[in-house]
Formats: sequence, structure tokens, C-alpha cells
Amino acid sequence: MNDAQLLRYSRHILLPQIGIEGQEKLLAAKALIVGAGGLGSPAAYYLASAGVGTLVLADGDTVDLTNLQRQILHRVDSVGRPKAESGRDTLAGINPECRVETIVARLDGASLDAAVSRADVVLDCSDNFATRHAINRACVKFRKPLVPGAAIRFDGQVAVFDSCRADAPCYHCLFPEAEDAEEVRCATMGVFAPLTGIIGTVQAAEALKLLIGCGESLAGRLLLLDGLAMEWRQITVPRDPLCPVCSS
Ligand SMILES: [Zn+2]
Repeated sequence: MNDAQLLRYSRHILLPQIGIEGQEKLLAAKALIVGAGGLGSPAAYYLASAGVGTLVLADGDTVDLTNLQRQILHRVDSVGRPKAESGRDTLAGINPECRVETIVARLDGASLDAAVSRADVVLDCSDNFATRHAINRACVKFRKPLVPGAAIRFDGQVAVFDSCRADAPCYHCLFPEAEDAEEVRCATMGVFAPLTGIIGTVQAAEALKLLIGCGESLAGRLLLLDGLAMEWRQITVPRDPLCPVCSS
């Protein structure tokens, strides 16, 4: 690290659990964020400001006026632009040292495999089951730690599935894929603005801890937030021995 970096990251370096060694791990790391919306916005802010070397922002949507209520990466003059590009420009103003690669497309198939295989950690900030399950399958396939988040109405969820661990459960163990799964969307159900900030920020914290290798991750646990009562619950997620994704 040069002098400017030692200064920029000094409040991390002061922490014995991070130090120069941990900060250098972040600078060398690559994180994939799927979805540059309500969850991806705060997650990207903190990963970039904290010094993650490379961020890959993947989102096929463009910024809409209804997004600005919670998707804090984007501004009025970004309406109509691809979210990934709008996000990249915002992040450049916070930490120009963070290299932001953009994918202006909905990741699936080969493009998803390629992006996941090159990442050190994957943050699922998407908003639909098909994408969530596809990301999970790719993370299990390439043994990459996955940090999924979800927020709808006043309810939030966040977990870690660390496929690097031998007996780790996966997203499918918790939420088996179903043909008739009911999709609940912010567009129809609404979402409390700061809830996405809380959940996305927990995703960033867990991703940073995984990259640094400090503390105890959320691996194998699901945190549930009732934002109206402001109460957190935690459930342990066991591995499903019959899971078609992770138990082959
Ligand atoms: Zn599984």
C-alpha cells in the first residue's frame, strides 16, 4: 500500500482483526454483485469504500423514477441509464481506486458461470427466484461463498452459504425450487426504503468478513428482520441430504 492508501484505509488498519494484512486481502479481492438495486446499492457503496479491489456490478435494468426511493446508487440524472453504469459512476466518486466492471445484462447460463467462477465472493441482490437459484447453483459448482439478501414490505432476510465448507447447506436446501413459487415483488407489494439499506449493509459486512477471514460468518444461519417491530430472529439452516444442488 502507498501512503494515500494507508491513510484512506487507516480506520480499518487500526482494527486488529483487519490490519494491513486484511486490508491487502480486500485490495486484491473481487466481488460479484448481482443486482444494482435496493440491496446492491448499499452493498456496493460499502465494498467500494472499504477498498475491495474489483467489483463486478451486474444488472440488466435501467434506472426508473420509482427506484430512487431506496436505490441510493442512482440519482435523478441517472433515470433511463443502465443501473450498472449509473452505479459505476457513483462509486468512482467515492473510491476511484476500486475497479468497477459492469455487466448490463441479466446473468444466466454461461455468463453467470463465467462471472461467478472469477469472483471471490458473490452477493445475491436480485429480486426473483429464477435468478436466485441460478446464482446458487453456480456458487455450489465453483465453490464460491454466497451472501443472499431479500427485502419486501417491512421484512428482510440475509444469510451466508459458504460452499468452501464441506458440510455447508446451500440456498436450495433452505428454499427448494418450486414450479409454482409465488413471486412477491416490490413493484406490487411495496418496500420500506431503509429496510433495503439495512439488509444490503449486512450483506456487505458478511462479504468483507469472508474476504478478510475474520470473525464468525453467518454461514448456515438465516437472519430474519421484522422492520415494523425492529426485531431480528435467527434460524439455523441444516443441509438437506437430498438436496439436488449441493448433495451430489
Ligand atoms: Zn443444498
